Amino acid sequence: MAADRPLSELFAQRRPLRSIEFFPPKDDAGVEALRHTAAALKSISPDFVSVTYGAGGSTRQRTAQVSVFLKKDFGFTVMPHLTCVGHTREELNGVADSIYADGFRNIMTLRGDPPKGSTEFQATADGLRNANELVSLLKARHPDFCLGVGGYPEKHPEAASAEVDLVNLKRKVDAGADFVTTQLFFDNASYYRFVDACRAAGITVPIVPGIMPVLSLKQIQRFTSMCGTTLPATLIRRLEAAGETAEIVEAVGIDWALGQIRDLLARGAPGYHLYILNRAKSALALAAGLAA
Ligand SMILES: Cc1cc2nc3c(=O)[nH]c(=O)nc-3n(C[C@H](O)[C@H](O)[C@H](O)COP(=O)(O)OP(=O)(O)OC[C@H]3O[C@@H](n4cnc5c(N)ncnc54)[C@H](O)[C@@H]3O)c2cc1C
Repeated sequence: MAADRPLSELFAQRRPLRSIEFFPPKDDAGVEALRHTAAALKSISPDFVSVTYGAGGSTRQRTAQVSVFLKKDFGFTVMPHLTCVGHTREELNGVADSIYADGFRNIMTLRGDPPKGSTEFQATADGLRNANELVSLLKARHPDFCLGVGGYPEKHPEAASAEVDLVNLKRKVDAGADFVTTQLFFDNASYYRFVDACRAAGITVPIVPGIMPVLSLKQIQRFTSMCGTTLPATLIRRLEAAGETAEIVEAVGIDWALGQIRDLLARGAPGYHLYILNRAKSALALAAGLAA
């Protein structure tokens, strides 16, 4: 397959980029459903899409499978994710080689979350401890990889302070990361503060805001408690008022995300990355809302 363009070339065009994140489905039915989602999203021409990397087992093969068909059958520029979890350096070099051989030139480079059942990240023997080490490994293996890394406007939950977290982010960028995509957030003020702090710390790469249109109050409360993101009281009130009616809850989620994205783009964000949980509806509604 022909090699993708590095996303750094797209960022250099200085136009807002729209990107969409998929996760690898557990079974063949989920893969088929994802094909339908991808077909629907083709109509809004995202600049690139990404595919997350699971904590282990068969979902990892599915990341490769889904990434390949999104590129080959749908023509998307695809950024597979890769994590350090459960891998030795040798295995990571092997995964990097097969990603490269499949024509991918962009990787979202992460430490990863501990697998279900464990609360603490444990590096394997001869494995990597942090994402900055994976950035270094990938750049050494294939210098033309363009690498994204995760950033945390409200601090990574394990970091002792925002300052320490920022030093760690700088380490990833100094190792060769080309851009940062943020954890989801619902209050743009946290993104603007984070970008200011990054710039003051000498982090100059694009910082792409990660936006998740809410689909359910319970689900988003669970996500945000895991990743340390604040849910604004106004948003909670609006979601509570929407009650159990899925369509109304989704409409509130889309409306909130639309407000966030309009404000972010007006204030010069380099684009927006959508966490859509493999559902096309919100991404399509947001594209329509932004075009209106
Ligand atoms: C855009 C995005 C996409 C994601 N996709 C996935 C995915 O596909 N699969 C998945 O499993 N998870 C994914 N995650 C979740 C991510 O794996 C977790 O947030 C994980 O806990 C941290 O990953 P990281 O790459 O940010 O780690 P790191 O950058 O390694 O940071 C982890 C913690 O260690 C600290 N730290 C970093 N470097 C050092 C160092 N050198 N010394 C000491 N402390 C250090 C940091 O401050 C932080 O507290 C994603 C997150 C984001 C923001």
